[in-house]
Amino acid sequence: MADKRQITVATGDGIGPEIMEATLHILEQAGAEIEPEFIDVGEKVYLTGNSTGIPQEAWDSLRRTKVLLKAPITTPQGGGYKSLNVTIRTAMGLYANVRPCVSYHPVIENKHPEMDLVIVRENEEDLYSGIEHQQTPDVVQSLKLISRPGSERIIRHAFEYARQNNRKKVSCLVKDNIMKLSDGLFHQVFKEIAAEYPDIESNSYIVDIGMARIADSPEEFDVIVTLNLYGDIASDIAAQIAGSVGLAGSANIGDEIAMFEAIHGSAPDIAGKGIANPSGLLHGAIMMLVHIGQPEAAEKIHNAWLKTIEDGMLTGDMAKGKEAVGTKEFAHAVVERLG
Ligand code: ATP
Ligand code: MG
Repeated sequence: MADKRQITVATGDGIGPEIMEATLHILEQAGAEIEPEFIDVGEKVYLTGNSTGIPQEAWDSLRRTKVLLKAPITTPQGGGYKSLNVTIRTAMGLYANVRPCVSYHPVIENKHPEMDLVIVRENEEDLYSGIEHQQTPDVVQSLKLISRPGSERIIRHAFEYARQNNRKKVSCLVKDNIMKLSDGLFHQVFKEIAAEYPDIESNSYIVDIGMARIADSPEEFDVIVTLNLYGDIASDIAAQIAGSVGLAGSANIGDEIAMFEAIHGSAPDIAGKGIANPSGLLHGAIMMLVHIGQPEAAEKIHNAWLKTIEDGMLTGDMAKGKEAVGTKEFAHAVVERLG
């Protein structure tokens, strides 16, 4: 056996510790070769007066392992606390946000049974670069920054993802009929890179009609690559119509470091009750296993998870009024089906 791969793990706030325990239990039972190194980030750390929520030991661990599996964090209201996700993303140069949105109809009812798409969102540029000016008391300005290297990197990531994950098509969303320079550059780079991947189909949509089509016929899409703001909106639309806000995971990828998580928040309303759904974090962990070169364990877990929900073992949020199981029971059911 090869040495175990060290990973940094943040158990988070609210339901975080419960769903992390369930997720790590499943990974271990599936034979994933990982060695978690636990760090404290989030609420506890913010409340010690650290405005980023991330202590030095956490950065040290992350720089060493280069992989973070993170449960949801609560950012305390008010008081100038910075979003931990934004801090990590900026400090570590996590330029790509990758979010699969899949329909699990009929187990989890959904209007789009064939939906199975992945959104690859640029994560550093665009209107999120934080360049804002107040020109006069009544006029403010916000700059949209798009660079050729930034565009190349994210678009190449989308095509490489497609190739590695056996996906057939990459679609680009832009508004270059209006923003001829910024969106125009992104679109131009998309066409150049698409030409390097003749095995993968490519097409483009003006973002307004593209979003409408995601909402109406998501099955038309496979991989979507887009700018930061459009990607933010498209990700939420897609997760919502897949009915999988509690089920979806996401990856934030940089040149050196990557972070994996569930897309939902810390759900303080159900924390400590043992009823939270660990599936979103588990899906993040599955993406992590692929990233660190353990695709067999990833596939084994994914198949066991699918079998579990097909057998009707569902947490409350998935069962929607039908009989439900708790977090631990759900995790045991997945472990039993690892085969
Ligand atoms: P945040 O500000 O951290 O994003 P939020 O309130 O916007 O929090 P969530 O924490 O995602 O959003 O919760 C939204 C709703 O979904 C809550 O009612 C919560 O209980 C429920 N929910 C979220 N995640 C889960 C989960 N894993 N299992 C069960 N229910 C969940
Ligand atoms: Mg929220």
